[in-house]
Amino acid sequence: MRGFQVKRHGGPEVLEYVELPDPTPGPGEALIRVRVAGVNFTDVYQRTGMYPGTLPFTPGVEGVGVVEKLGSGVTEVKVGDRVGWVMMKGAYAELAVVPAERLVPIPASIDDRTAAAILLQGMTAHFLLRDCYRVTKGEWILVHAAAGGVGLLMMQIGHKIGARIIGTTSTEEKAALAREAGADEIVLYTKEDFQQAAKRITGGAGVSVVYDSVGKTTFDKSLDSLRRRGYMVLFGASSGPVPPLDPQVLNRKGSLYLTRPTLGDYVSTREELLGRAADLFDWVSKGELKVRVEHVYPLAEAAKAHADLEARKTTGKVLLTI
Ligand code: NDP
Repeated sequence: MRGFQVKRHGGPEVLEYVELPDPTPGPGEALIRVRVAGVNFTDVYQRTGMYPGTLPFTPGVEGVGVVEKLGSGVTEVKVGDRVGWVMMKGAYAELAVVPAERLVPIPASIDDRTAAAILLQGMTAHFLLRDCYRVTKGEWILVHAAAGGVGLLMMQIGHKIGARIIGTTSTEEKAALAREAGADEIVLYTKEDFQQAAKRITGGAGVSVVYDSVGKTTFDKSLDSLRRRGYMVLFGASSGPVPPLDPQVLNRKGSLYLTRPTLGDYVSTREELLGRAADLFDWVSKGELKVRVEHVYPLAEAAKAHADLEARKTTGKVLLTI
């Protein structure tokens, strides 16, 4: 099969499109013919080595395809089923082997691209807003990178909950998309001090929760944007990792809470995985959640997809078609 391999950490150029042996499913596993792979910022962290892992590896932690062959003992899916998966490497290839218990059957009403656009980023938006901190109607929340893949979904789900949302974006074009998706206020954080804006918008009180996926360049001011006993949810590092923190800072800034969650811990059981996916499929089918897929590349152009994502050139979901 054709697929990507990363043999050493580095820039997009370390993504090598090569001939690889066809994988074989072991007990409890399924062989999937991949149709669409999601591109996520996690792929960049794994490629650069910011997230440690063994080399070589085939990147891509999100895929949608058709079950081609089963290992022994698989009961969750059958040959011919259309399925998706998240948080397992190997989607940037024609074939992938995935534990069957991690596969999500895709309903007929959801096409391949929509499924690949909603699974990882949608489930992330879902757990962040509903479980990591449970957002309630009327409260102010701050979401960075509001026009990104996760961002645009958070705008819509947050709006559906009834939250009042302050989103940050780097450009006016991105601001317009985030507003359309449900943001009440937008701050261009490359031009304006978002902490001062958050305080002004909330009448000096600060927001209940900050969802910060940008990390290095936003973390300190995000803490300062919170209300007393507010929640800091650091869930990514698009601008680089946050340096070590003295816990006393949380005390001084108003008895704050800090968490650094990962989706894997919020879809750890099959029930939770399928439950989150079912909510998203339901909202998409009813037209309550719109998926923005504008950046679609052939598999062979994965390096360009990475470069564009890292250069902040993309909005919404980035996909590779196989
Ligand atoms: P996005 O589509 O949101 O792309 C990243 C965005 O971050 C950019 O578009 C840009 O928006 C913003 N950004 C700010 N500073 C920088 C910078 N220096 N370099 C690059 N981008 C920057 O990506 P995803 O939707 O795939 O992921 C969003 C974040 O969520 C990532 O940090 C990712 O790691 C995290 N994530 C975490 C998960 C978890 O389980 N913890 C699961 C899924 C995603 P702008 O131009 O508007 O500033």
